[in-house]
Amino acid sequence: MRETRGALQVGSLRGIPVRVHFSLLLVLPLLAYVFGGAFRRAAEVAAVPEEQLWGAPWGWGLGVAVGLFASVFVHELAHTLYALARGGQVRSITLMMVGGVSELSEAPPRARDEALMALVGPLTSLALAGLLALATWGVAGTGSFNLQFACFYLASLNLFLGVFNLLPAFPMDGGRILRALLAGRMGMVRATQVASVVGRGFALLFGVWGLATFNPFLMVIAFFIFMGADGEAKQVRMKATLEKVRVAELMTPRWMGVDVGASLEEALWEFRVERRTALPVTEEGRPLGRVAVEAVRAVPAGERTRRQVREVMRPAPVARLEEDGWQALRRMAEEGSPLLLVVDADGRLAGTLEVGDVERGLTLFQNREERAERDARRWREERPA
Ligand SMILES: [Zn+2]
Repeated sequence: MRETRGALQVGSLRGIPVRVHFSLLLVLPLLAYVFGGAFRRAAEVAAVPEEQLWGAPWGWGLGVAVGLFASVFVHELAHTLYALARGGQVRSITLMMVGGVSELSEAPPRARDEALMALVGPLTSLALAGLLALATWGVAGTGSFNLQFACFYLASLNLFLGVFNLLPAFPMDGGRILRALLAGRMGMVRATQVASVVGRGFALLFGVWGLATFNPFLMVIAFFIFMGADGEAKQVRMKATLEKVRVAELMTPRWMGVDVGASLEEALWEFRVERRTALPVTEEGRPLGRVAVEAVRAVPAGERTRRQVREVMRPAPVARLEEDGWQALRRMAEEGSPLLLVVDADGRLAGTLEVGDVERGLTLFQNREERAERDARRWREERPA
């Protein structure tokens, strides 16, 4: 359910949208510039005479930036193909500087699967680095300095990607492996919390290091690790809480919706009374769908008394009273519906569930959990030994 904002779609693969996160777009020109400046040293390290290389240093900088882009893509592709092969569903692939995410509809249920899924990315990068190093070595004797330099640089980039992503800085791959290792012992929520603290520690370290060495990459990376670790810890906790709460406890109870035969003018009054932007549509207590205030307003004012709700209503997904909150929230996201119709065992309307209901319920239940934990701790401390 993780949504990656600030990403640009650049294509699709087997129907899965491939997007580029703006962090990567931001870093590419920066990288081209920095590498353009470090060109001479890079040529030295690669043992290639600089005067033998074509083109301007900035041209090479740009080439390296594109090479990094391709390397990140291959790395993400490895995660995605592995997930698909294991029967997972991937909603989108986002290329980003760190913690590139192949968005799964649902995280792998078993810790071992998550660890393996996290591991295939860095392993692919390292394998690619090995192949490119071999190619560099193979080309070295032939005098094709440009090819040798390109292979050398791509090998270095992939080595960096592989090693860097293996650092246990959640939500990077290494951090996911750490979480999977911990999850067996302490459960998913606690393991995510610990991994997230470690991840944020790394982020602070990178940030300070980046400041001290005037390295803008490290600072950008630090920022994204910090935000990612925090966001994912919150999400895992939300999931754990919502899985324990039934839809009946979260919903807004209501037995009547807007009648399917009501006029649009009457529906508009309902919206004003209820102070909602979407309401269920019912026929003698049976839920039929939902009606949104925009759909009603889209009809010219003069026609609203003549036309009926059935003309503008839309289907709405249904949830059962005893379902858990997480399932309901997922259905809302998957069906793209802001409103769920909650029905009882007889199929009659019992209530509605909106994101606002879930948020209010979540705060309530998390506060209650925290209080219970505090009380339990105090009880243990105060109990005479
Ligand atoms: Zn990865």
